[in-house]
This record gives sequence, C-alpha cells and structure tokens, in this order.
Amino acid sequence: MFMRRFIAFLVFVMPLILSAMTLEYDEFFEDETLNVELIHSGRYGMEFYRIENMYGAGRWAGSKTRLIDATNYGVHRVEVYSDKKLIYSRNYCSLFEEWSTTAAGKRDCRAFEEVVRVPMPKEIIMLRISSKNERGVWKEVFADKIDPSHIGSPSLDRVCRPFPLSYAGDINKKLDVVILPAGYSIEDSAKLRKDIRMFGEFMFSKHPFDGLRDKINVWGVEYFSEYSGIPGLKGSSLESETELGLSYNTFDSPRYLMSENLFNIHSLLRDTPYDQIVIMCNSNVYGGGGIYNFYATSYVNPNNSFVLIHEFGHSFAALGDEYSDNDSDLEGAYKNVEPWQPNITALKDFSKKWKDMIGKGVPVPTPCTPEYEGVVGVYEGAAYSAKGLYRPYQDCLMRSDKPFCPVCVREILNMMELYTE
Ligand SMILES: [Zn+2]
Repeated sequence: MFMRRFIAFLVFVMPLILSAMTLEYDEFFEDETLNVELIHSGRYGMEFYRIENMYGAGRWAGSKTRLIDATNYGVHRVEVYSDKKLIYSRNYCSLFEEWSTTAAGKRDCRAFEEVVRVPMPKEIIMLRISSKNERGVWKEVFADKIDPSHIGSPSLDRVCRPFPLSYAGDINKKLDVVILPAGYSIEDSAKLRKDIRMFGEFMFSKHPFDGLRDKINVWGVEYFSEYSGIPGLKGSSLESETELGLSYNTFDSPRYLMSENLFNIHSLLRDTPYDQIVIMCNSNVYGGGGIYNFYATSYVNPNNSFVLIHEFGHSFAALGDEYSDNDSDLEGAYKNVEPWQPNITALKDFSKKWKDMIGKGVPVPTPCTPEYEGVVGVYEGAAYSAKGLYRPYQDCLMRSDKPFCPVCVREILNMMELYTE
C-alpha cells in the first residue's frame, strides 16, 4: 500500500513539484546572467562592498532548479530577494578573504575586485552579501536594491568566443567549466591550441571526474596576452600582462599564482556559459591557486594534471588542503570552531563531517600507521596546521599527488548535483 502510494507520488506529484521549481525560475528570472562588479575592501575583521558596475552576460549556465545554496561552505554568501522571499543564493570565498588573514591584511586596508554572477532578475530585487566571522557566524556586509532596467554595459570591448572542448549537453543541467589561457602571446597560438585540448582532457584525468564526462561541459576560449609567459618568478624580468593580471608570488608566496583583475576576466568571458573558471597559465614552473567559487589557476605540465585538479578541488568542491606545512603566512582554518571545508575537521562538530564513513573499531583520532593505510579515519595535520586539525585519509589529492580520498570523492559527487539537477 505504502509502495503504491509512493509510486503514485513519483508519477503524479513529483513532476508537478519539479515543474513548479522550474516555474519559479521563470517567474523571477530571465534566461540571462547578471554580472555584478564589486569592490571588496577592508582588512581583517572589517570589510566593505560597493557596486562598481553591472551588465548582462549571456545565457544563465547554472541550474534552474537548485537556486538556493543549502551548504554552509565558503565565507561569503550572495543572496537575491524578491520582496522578502529568498530566490537565489550562492556561497563563495575571495582573494580579499585570503589576504585579510595574512600579516599585512591584519594591519593595512586594501581593495579587491570581485564579480558575483546571479540570474538576471525580471523585477527590482534586493542583493545582499554576508560574510562569516572567525566563529563561523554569518553577518550581513552589504545590501542594495538592483533595478534590472538600469544596468550598464561591460567596461571592456574585447570578448572571447567560446568553443566546446568536451560537450555533454544542456548548460542548465551540466557543470560548465571554461578554460581561459593566460600568458600566451599570438606567437604561442599553436601551443595554446595544443595546451587547451590537453587541459580539457586533464579535467577528466582523476577519479571521480573520469566518470563524469556526461555531466560536464568544458569550454575553451582563445585569448592572446600581450607577452608570453607568467611574471612574478624570482629573478624573472617578464613584464606584467595588464589585462588578465596573472602573476606568481601573490601575497609574497612564491608558487601562489593568482590575478586581481576579476572585472576583466569575467568581462572577457561574458559570451561563454560557465559555472567555474580555470586559468591555464603558460609556464612550466610549478604553481597555481584555487578559491571556492572564485577561480582556479594552474601551470602547464604535459606529464601531470595534479596541480590543476588539486586547485579545482578548492574552487569547485570547496575542499581544503589536507597538508599541514605552509610556505606563506596565509592562515588556514581556525581550531576553536569546526572548519567549513567538508574534508577538514577540528573535531568540534564532527557528526556533520565524515563521521558516518568511519568504520567500526577505527580510533578517533586515528594513528598515522601502516595499519590504517587506506582507511577513512581522522588523521592529525591538515589545513596548514600540524596540530588540532584533522584530515580523513593518510594521503589524498588535496595533500599530494595521490588519488582523492573517499571523503573528497563523496564531496565532489555531492557538489555535482548543485549543477546537474
Ligand atoms: Zn581528501
């Protein structure tokens, strides 16, 4: 009896719920993306946002049914309200936040570019941005009305035309990743074409991404920089390329390869459907970076996709570093509250993490001994801290060039649902 009712629910009610969810998108939004350019400024413990510009940026590539972000990942959250009703939200992290945890960021104020992408509203909406404090509590930082009839145009004329590197289908039901080349001059065009195909394949080179080809669209663009190569390496006299602004030595961390030119990056990609940006940096020197729902970067090594996928683990799946050493003064998670990264725990609220994956008889914390190799446990040393923070496996792609651990695999698969439903 129960089963028959359940089947009736599936057959008759479920499609209604699904179509109601889709209707909700159409009720509030156009099939277009709104790019909001913001200046995010301040220092540790003090931050401000202000809107610089807004423009329409092509078809909406995100899910039309998973409009609300139910995760508690990241440290910022953008919300869209129609009257008092929450109609869209997404969590993310930022370069501002990373900088604010450095020694300089605790002392001096600085301003960073940031772009939030939301579905284009049909009517006036309220845009709210909140940040988490170090105790993990959300606090509103910014709120302003946005009138879609008063949006501007992109400041850059230049725009990249996308082409598919791997196509799985409907952009609303697939994860859309764009690969943006940086540091390729026009003389490097043959190398760019070769490298971008390789990066497109790299996206599927590690488990579980190897099994997700039917769920991910990978887009490429041909973007040529003024100069060949990536500046910022010690002893290098390479000039800084002004439009994309990629450079090693971000925040004085030699291998940290980032850009502060978010306005240009998003503006160049405004004709491309994308949920995630991967920046392919024309250099054979080890380096990269990845910030959750912000972007990922990687150097180019034809023999190894490890850095690319590791950084994509940060930017796409909100995964934290599972290593404990640190070559910069960037701070990791706090030990007195449970970190938000799904693969790191301070054992403050472990039931919300991977406690359900710990087998019978596995001690918590788990000794890092051969006996527990290949066993999901709670191993001390993670997120740049040798003590007080724990990782789920002795080794993992978020720690070194090894396969993703079972906890990270589960998180990647869960995150896929936010884009493919
Ligand atoms: Zn892991």
